[in-house]
Amino acid sequence: MARVLILGGGFGGVVAAERLAAQLSDEHQITLVSRSRNFVFYPALVRLAFGKCEQSDVAFDLRHAMLNRRINFIEAEVARIDPFERTVTIAHGEVEGKLGYDYLVFALGRRLATERIHGFYEHAQHLLTVDKAIKFGKAIKTFKEGRAVFGQCPGARLPVPVYESSFALARLLEEKGQRESVRITIVSPTTLESELGDAAAAATLRKALADHEIEFLPNLSIESLTENAAITSSGDRINFNLLMLVPPFRGSSAAAYVGITNAEDYINVDSTMRVPGHERLYAVGDCVNFEGPKMGHMAVRQAEVAAANLAAAIEGHEPVSHYQHEMRFVIEGVGGDGLYLRKDLWTDEPATVSQNRFWSWAKRVQQRYWEHSHS
Ligand SMILES: Cc1cc2nc3c(=O)[nH]c(=O)nc-3n(C[C@H](O)[C@H](O)[C@H](O)COP(=O)(O)OP(=O)(O)OC[C@H]3O[C@@H](n4cnc5c(N)ncnc54)[C@H](O)[C@@H]3O)c2cc1C
Repeated sequence: MARVLILGGGFGGVVAAERLAAQLSDEHQITLVSRSRNFVFYPALVRLAFGKCEQSDVAFDLRHAMLNRRINFIEAEVARIDPFERTVTIAHGEVEGKLGYDYLVFALGRRLATERIHGFYEHAQHLLTVDKAIKFGKAIKTFKEGRAVFGQCPGARLPVPVYESSFALARLLEEKGQRESVRITIVSPTTLESELGDAAAAATLRKALADHEIEFLPNLSIESLTENAAITSSGDRINFNLLMLVPPFRGSSAAAYVGITNAEDYINVDSTMRVPGHERLYAVGDCVNFEGPKMGHMAVRQAEVAAANLAAAIEGHEPVSHYQHEMRFVIEGVGGDGLYLRKDLWTDEPATVSQNRFWSWAKRVQQRYWEHSHS
């Protein structure tokens, strides 16, 4: 009998748990630990902020779906892991103390390192949690004129909501006849080409931004914020009346200081999703040390690979699956369309780009599918 512990009830942890439950016989014990029983479908948070869906469409209770699949669920905070002792320290929750494991899947996502931007806590809005998206939605409702600034701080690894929310604001203002009174600006620490990894994709997005009179300011690293201005490392001052800023990301602190992470606390893994030097430890999702943006479809694919290899390891077999790092996303609301991009991040193959209504629809169908199959 193997005790398999999965940390994190997001895309990575849930898919790993479900796959393992399907692949392992009943004698093995599968336990998922997460700080909340709610699964959050993050890609829908822009729609939530703009009043296009309800809170109940975005977050739903995981516990029953897990128990139905014979996965034990513990609602608690993970403080740290010890891969040498094979224990996890759990605090503040249904269970406290140390849990032992035979195999561990680490899927605690990323940490928002807001402390790295002076003034972020006091002056910035973002939409990376349900509460913050609702709060930002309230600010949008009262915003009528001036300058709206959207952007990523250095170290942020999530371009999609920046573009989606700037297009959504442009559309909302057009519908209300207030577009003329608002300047919309996107600030990026890099260029469109390096954000999307492809010149053709960058050209498509640049044209869509120009069509909606959204200005794009590249190579600006926001260092600090005041009540109404973002200050960059080169001393530029970008005034705003409305601000949505993705803060810097870091890996989860629960894996720090045990020699398995890079300097930003992201966990080193190989293409089997195993942590080198710790053959019973796997990591998946936003927490891993792979280049490029942090995305849900990557977490899902990594979880499938980790589950297949962990199940094989329990049976005494070599890894059977390898992860290939690719980026795929849909930016909703580009005109009436969705902009789809697919790019292999480990080869020089050009990206696939397409723009039409189907992609926005497909993104919503994917959300409904998740809700129906996991709630
Ligand atoms: C606004 C927004 C829009 C996005 N749009 C897209 C998109 O269009 N397409 C796309 O592919 N991706 C998108 N993403 C990214 C995607 O949501 C993430 O990549 C994905 O959620 C990562 O999954 P994960 O399982 O690694 O981490 P998470 O989903 O963050 O899950 C981590 C889990 O661990 C729990 N947890 C964390 N720390 C602890 C702890 N110490 N103790 C206990 N539990 C803990 C959390 O509560 C959570 O349940 C978007 C994200 C946001 C915020």
